[in-house]
Amino acid sequence: MTTPCRLGGLLLLLLLGAVAVAIAASHPANEFCAAAGGGAGCGGGGDGARILIKGGTVVNAHRAEEADVYIEDGVVIAVRPNIRVGDDNVKVIDATGKFVMPGGIDPHTHLEMEFMGTVTIDDFFSGHAAALAGGTTMHIDFVIPVNGNLTAGLESYKQKAEKSAMDYGFHMAITKWNDDVSREMESMVKDHGQKVIGEPVVSGLVLNDSWLWDPDFTIASKYVMSPPIRQAGHNKALQLALSSGVLPLVGTDHCTFNSTQKAFGFDDFRKIPNGVNGIEERMHIIWDSMAETGQISGTDYVRVTSTECAKIFNIYPRKGAILEGSDADMIILNPKRSFVMGAHTHHSRSNTNVYEGRKGKGMVEVTISRGRVVWEDGILNIVPGSGRYIRTPPFGYLFDGTEKSDAAYRASLRAPVQRGKASA
Ligand SMILES: [Zn+2]
Repeated sequence: MTTPCRLGGLLLLLLLGAVAVAIAASHPANEFCAAAGGGAGCGGGGDGARILIKGGTVVNAHRAEEADVYIEDGVVIAVRPNIRVGDDNVKVIDATGKFVMPGGIDPHTHLEMEFMGTVTIDDFFSGHAAALAGGTTMHIDFVIPVNGNLTAGLESYKQKAEKSAMDYGFHMAITKWNDDVSREMESMVKDHGQKVIGEPVVSGLVLNDSWLWDPDFTIASKYVMSPPIRQAGHNKALQLALSSGVLPLVGTDHCTFNSTQKAFGFDDFRKIPNGVNGIEERMHIIWDSMAETGQISGTDYVRVTSTECAKIFNIYPRKGAILEGSDADMIILNPKRSFVMGAHTHHSRSNTNVYEGRKGKGMVEVTISRGRVVWEDGILNIVPGSGRYIRTPPFGYLFDGTEKSDAAYRASLRAPVQRGKASA
């Protein structure tokens, strides 16, 4: 069976540029607006909220610094120490002793996907609620073609995303191949070279297959995903590959089914819908298991959870950074606070969680999405329909030099060889 989960999972082959279909979204203006002003020509598109984050450590992939962050109309206006704004209408957040980091970008999710005779239980609203509560402010979902038709698939996902509460992009899954698909791809992507990069998923980084042998079907079945979770040891190897940069980013393959759906396979494990949760847990788990332990630095954490994904999909530094002009998608993480995960507190619609009972350090206390505080003090404040499609332009940095390297490879083949007729 060729399914996106099977195609993706441990190693996601990214056919870059496969989703170059613009729907909307123009970048808000980047000009520095007068603090008390706002008004015409000043940003636009946002709800006018002004936020000042004071006293935190701003962590980008390229460096960490003590700085304040000033946000207006959904855009980062300034990042520097001691910003003063003479206006009572500015929401001030004290981030002393905390990290202010770009919101997570999850490159691999399946929201409201028809699969194995059912549909994943998180849609573009509940999935976004879970994401924002866990510090992820954008994801890239797989569009599944309708009977192999890419255009119909995209239309269907545009409708599914109407209830979105945060920004999102799309990958196009290619589930079958024929002349029509070939022509459609041609119209969506110009022919160009490709590079392959690897993306571990968070479940593969911290879980092992011992759960699959649990005598309780409800527990065992929730860990069924594809590719399967491997035996202990594989996860450490993947963590090493992520920390050394061999693998550049981490996703989730968030693809949730509740215990009733999983029970479709009670008498035949092949019928258990494949998939696990992760969109809400990824940021906390990577922080706790890799940054808190010292395996990666804070700047590396930002790189693997956000910046690299933004670069690969060619939306950096609009996303994946806290810089002047960037979208105001960010989190405030308190490294001193602890978390406990589980189905009773998560925001997914599933009644199970593969990280049930997992404890760790580092808490996303605040999530800001497009300049709005959407998660604070354990309370979500989100609006269906507020998310926007983010066009991911083709030919990002991974394409740099592709033509030259292809030409060098062809030249190295020493072919064709000109030969005369064979002699006796
Ligand atoms: Zn997948």
